[in-house]
Amino acid sequence: MAVPEKVGVLGGGRMGAGIAHAFLAAGANVKVVDINDDAVAAAKARVEKAIQGSIDRGAEGTFESWAERLTLSTEVSEFAGFDLVVEAVPESMELKTTAFSSIAQAAPETVIATNTSSLSVSQLADTVANDVIGLHFFNPVPASKLVEVVIAKSTPDALVETAKGWVEDLGKTAVVVKDAPGFASSRLGVAIALEAIRMVEESVASARDIDNAMVLGYKFPIGPLELTDIVGLDVRLGIAEYLESTLGERFAPPQLMRDMVARGELGRKSGKGFYDYSQSS
Ligand code: NAD
Repeated sequence: MAVPEKVGVLGGGRMGAGIAHAFLAAGANVKVVDINDDAVAAAKARVEKAIQGSIDRGAEGTFESWAERLTLSTEVSEFAGFDLVVEAVPESMELKTTAFSSIAQAAPETVIATNTSSLSVSQLADTVANDVIGLHFFNPVPASKLVEVVIAKSTPDALVETAKGWVEDLGKTAVVVKDAPGFASSRLGVAIALEAIRMVEESVASARDIDNAMVLGYKFPIGPLELTDIVGLDVRLGIAEYLESTLGERFAPPQLMRDMVARGELGRKSGKGFYDYSQSS
């Protein structure tokens, strides 16, 4: 099953540019739409850098043969007649609802896929008459093999199968998840991290020993605390709070996590989290 011939991407930021690159790599013609000329220029630079990266790593074709299938615009109306539009605007229900409505107006027949990492796909789907599905790509898109295919209440069964085929064509692996808070990845990943943080809080073991237990004992590629430092404690706190509000007390953030965020110990980006990065460049 081939990816659609014409794929639109709304929002050419970190994720949108990666998604555009992935569909170009699979042979689609891709149009990226962003809010203004500066954002479009930045999106173009991001996608072109990713194309160059593929060419440098030995991908088929020339830079030009990829780039000629890429167009950019500030006009959502240019999605008219498209088969698939992937929405990758910032994570806000209000922004995404507006984005959905403008896509639906321009292309009433297109499938709309959302790259939301936490919002309800069913709630978004209810705002338009189009078929809607979640395609949750991971960052950085070219290096990540996973795409969560998120099924909204109204998603037709046939679209789930079609979307799984697209993901396979992108050279990635689909995980099919019902539209539930945290999907599969955040829910499980954050659950493990929260328990690891509680273990530090209760002085069960050091951060390094807890991480080593999972890396050496359970073959995790990286320990849950080190990964929390990479993602950012503030980011994971936000997800935990959301999961607590939707799934219950078992996701209540540990006090240590709140204290660390309040102290500005956010992980790598602040130089300190469960580990010290002050000497790292
Ligand atoms: P980003 O801020 O890097 O990019 C967002 C882009 O959308 C920007 O280029 C911005 O100009 C554009 N934009 C804003 N409003 C717009 C509008 N009305 N119309 C068109 N374009 C608009 O954000 P990102 O990190 O790429 O995240 C995008 C989505 O992907 C979010 O839903 C996020 O939760 C999800 N996501 C992010 C990650 C990650 O690690 N960054 C991972 C998985 C999913």
